[in-house]
Amino acid sequence: MKTYRARCHCGAIGYEYQTALAVPEWDVRCCQCGFCTRHASATTSDPGGSVRFFFEEPGVLQRYRFGTGNTDFVLCKRCGVYLGAVIETGAGIFATLNTRAMEGMSDLPKPRPVSYDDQGAQERLDRREKLFTPVMGGFSGTASD
Ligand SMILES: [Zn+2]
Repeated sequence: MKTYRARCHCGAIGYEYQTALAVPEWDVRCCQCGFCTRHASATTSDPGGSVRFFFEEPGVLQRYRFGTGNTDFVLCKRCGVYLGAVIETGAGIFATLNTRAMEGMSDLPKPRPVSYDDQGAQERLDRREKLFTPVMGGFSGTASD
């Protein structure tokens, strides 16, 4: 397992992503929804890896929900950087991670466009649970996380 670190622009929020996948093997996706295209996000996840979010200060976590309303799109309240999306299900907490916030990534694969517009709410939930990265240490947005 290797660890990859991400931070928002002001440094208040970030995450550490652990995966055994070599960077050129990552599945990097650019979702075609109105939110992701506005952020030019390119996300990845590994169901066999793990991620731990950290919050340097309390109160900087901005959660944004739209569409089916069961996923938190995670932004820094101060600098506005989009870090990834988090979902809590009966099976745990899972995240997809915005590679644009990761540090020192030079060999990332070109993102492949994906669209989930034709998926229903349950389908989206199932897909995220299967594809996303397990979140360790909870996700409350407090500085102690
Ligand atoms: Zn920030």
